[in-house]
Amino acid sequence: MVMKVSRPTGADASGTYRRPRFVLRARRFEDLAAIFQKTKEYPAPVRLIGADYSQTRCVGGDGGTTVDTSALGKILEFGAETVRAQAGVRVGALARALAERGQELALTPEIGNISLGAVAVTTLPQPSFQPGLAQMSSLVCEMKLVSPQGKQIVVGEQARDLMRVLRSSFGLLGAVHEVVLRVRPLTPVRIEYQALSLKEFAARFTQFTAAPGALRLHISPFNDRITVERRTLAETADLTRSGIWQIRNSVMRNVLPAFGSTVGSVLSGPGLRNAMATGVHRALRATLDRAASGVVMHAHEWMRDLPAEAWKARYTYSLWAFPQADFPRRLAEYFAFCRAHYKRHGYRCNVINGASRLHQDRGSLFSLSYSGPMFTLEPSSTGGHGWDEFLIDFNDFASSLGGVPSFNQTRALQPEHVTKAFGDRIKLFRALRKRTDPLNRLHNSYFAYLLG
Ligand SMILES: Cc1cc2nc3c(=O)[nH]c(=O)nc-3n(C[C@H](O)[C@H](O)[C@H](O)COP(=O)(O)OP(=O)(O)OC[C@H]3O[C@@H](n4cnc5c(N)ncnc54)[C@H](O)[C@@H]3O)c2cc1C
Repeated sequence: MVMKVSRPTGADASGTYRRPRFVLRARRFEDLAAIFQKTKEYPAPVRLIGADYSQTRCVGGDGGTTVDTSALGKILEFGAETVRAQAGVRVGALARALAERGQELALTPEIGNISLGAVAVTTLPQPSFQPGLAQMSSLVCEMKLVSPQGKQIVVGEQARDLMRVLRSSFGLLGAVHEVVLRVRPLTPVRIEYQALSLKEFAARFTQFTAAPGALRLHISPFNDRITVERRTLAETADLTRSGIWQIRNSVMRNVLPAFGSTVGSVLSGPGLRNAMATGVHRALRATLDRAASGVVMHAHEWMRDLPAEAWKARYTYSLWAFPQADFPRRLAEYFAFCRAHYKRHGYRCNVINGASRLHQDRGSLFSLSYSGPMFTLEPSSTGGHGWDEFLIDFNDFASSLGGVPSFNQTRALQPEHVTKAFGDRIKLFRALRKRTDPLNRLHNSYFAYLLG
């Protein structure tokens, strides 16, 4: 049966509070039905939790019952084109197990902690290679879930519209306990860099987006620098493992956050702090310049496991997506926004900002690239005084320019941002949610505020 576990009830990685009444660990999927049905014993909202790495209150606690899925951690069946696994399996563990069999997922995030339950029901946009496959959930071709009434349901791709709704349902329509994901043969990826000014980037943008491969950008608004990372599948290339990539990864993920955190906590003057952050940007650029000629590696090698306790992760970010066609202009406006904000409030992000190109993907209702090809923009920081206010202003800026947010990765969202971005899709989801969960067993205050 279920086991009660304790978990810090203070601020999580996103700096928000959840405070459930109970935290339970489901040991078998049958436990989920029992929890849903025992309404007196296990108060609403019943919220499923994977790695607890979301940047928002999408899990939510609200004095209800939080169900930890980490014990549902078995990979059940490897096939030629698919893999079947339980919802608590982490994507990093799955990618390593697939690599041993010469297989991989067609999309690879940088963090390995993400649970397959979250992969199935949240919006996780990744630098994409082809139309139709830009969010992790589009890899999911079958889900087994337990409905709010405790009923077992299996949904496959033949139920296309239902899959589309479930793939961004955030645990509001049921608890996923098993998924089937599509896999492909393990293929080396060539990674090349070009460091450009904003003007150079804008001039070559059409060329960048027309060429094949996935695009990830590393953006320094105060240095007028955009490093374009192109990832292309290289079936026949030898792996280089030159070590440069490891340095890049280390600088991006360890040195920068640690440095920013030290800077933030030790140095109080923003001038001094920002001068040092600029120094780190320069060091990163030098590293990337050395790797400009290209590195060839397997995708799972760039995944990194952050601490198991999500609240210990030092850096945070927020994410919006913008239509591809206008992206250079949006980036110029973002640079101007950052400068104006810094001038007025003395705050600027101390970690290099990221961005990913997303091909159009209609696999989920709240896909960030549902309406067409997009680029994400991800302000990143180690937090600190001024970060929350920066994000509030950035949200209004992004929304006014036609941005699309993510319920698990865009912080400080307001209902008007959501309505503007998703329009009728919100109405459709709200109607369906009310019909499938009339007693609001799975509904928390975060989604009640944003979706009604
Ligand atoms: C420091 C940091 C770095 C990050 N880097 C990346 C990155 O490189 N790439 C990337 O894509 N994302 C990244 N993220 C974002 C993060 O991966 C996502 O927000 C993802 O949702 C987290 O997965 P999780 O297992 O922690 O989900 P949780 O936060 O545990 O849950 C997310 C949502 O899914 C629901 N849910 C979870 N499991 C189930 C289930 N079994 N059934 C039904 N509903 C369920 C929850 O209720 C919640 O609404 C990062 C986050 C942080 C804090």
